[in-house]
Amino acid sequence: MDEDLKTRLGNLKEKLNCGNETKVVTVPKSEAARLVNKYKFKPKERSRKNRFLPEKLQKFQKLYSNSVEEAENKFPDFKLYSRADFEAKVRQLADVTAHRSLGWDRKWLNPIQIVSRGWHLYTETKTEGSILALRCKCCHSLLYLDLEESSRSSSANESYHNMLKSQHTIDCPWSNHKYDLEQNYNLSRASLFLEVQRIIDKLEEVKHFEFALPIEVQEERKVSSLFDVEDQQLSILAVFLRGYSFITKDVVECNACGMKCFVTTLRDKEYNGHAIWCKYEDESKLKKLLVSLQDESLQREVKEVHESRKDGDQSNDLQDRLKWLERYFKTI
Ligand SMILES: [Zn+2]
Ligand SMILES: [Zn+2]
Repeated sequence: MDEDLKTRLGNLKEKLNCGNETKVVTVPKSEAARLVNKYKFKPKERSRKNRFLPEKLQKFQKLYSNSVEEAENKFPDFKLYSRADFEAKVRQLADVTAHRSLGWDRKWLNPIQIVSRGWHLYTETKTEGSILALRCKCCHSLLYLDLEESSRSSSANESYHNMLKSQHTIDCPWSNHKYDLEQNYNLSRASLFLEVQRIIDKLEEVKHFEFALPIEVQEERKVSSLFDVEDQQLSILAVFLRGYSFITKDVVECNACGMKCFVTTLRDKEYNGHAIWCKYEDESKLKKLLVSLQDESLQREVKEVHESRKDGDQSNDLQDRLKWLERYFKTI
């Protein structure tokens, strides 16, 4: 072996030996993690002696308790961010009260306002005539409202509206929180994406329907490209834009207030079967919103819905929305 090769091998050996040295890699602690932990965990009160454990194990007690878990156990019905839970409670209240003439109004008192403040129907048997029995599952408060239609006025409904907040106990989380209707329910730019999602899913369910209503569909044609809808499906799209979905081929039901009617009834331009408090009560509102807001970001959101549906992603709740949010942040 020549000298040059020996030197090169020696150098290589030296370098390899250097690489074996262990280095301590320190990862800086995240400030966010420190803050989250500070509020998530709290020192646990030392419990008294556990008589089932031997003396040497008495010291092994949990030092901290998880505040989030404790709150969930204490208030299992406080689902401030669950759209599915909110909509199910509204439908329950709407169904039970559908055939009674109650003094609902659009602004102050209706099933949307009641459920968004954490109340749910107590029992159907205690809800008789114009009396509505409500209960909060968190603080167990009861609230009886007399909704006799003839004696209701706007100011009376406003005072009932205030009671929806004040009748919770002071430590009830619903006393200072409310379901965010603007972001998650009302027809607005913020929640338009949810309506698009609903219509795309409903169109998929009825894609084999051979159905055409003799109604004008000029406005629907303006938004048909958003939903990949052919001309012969425009009247189906019109039904969905008015807030309905099909129960059978002949009967439709409102997605918000649960009112049902025959499909043929929708031929009548003047017909409006929605409850006074329903978000689709102005049947052209959603259509107008979609026509006026066909901007780039809406197009992108719609494209995302189509793509996720192709991937077989049909989940509609929190996980789905978090995934969407993640994708959205990647695009900006
Ligand atoms: Zn309460
Ligand atoms: Zn409705």
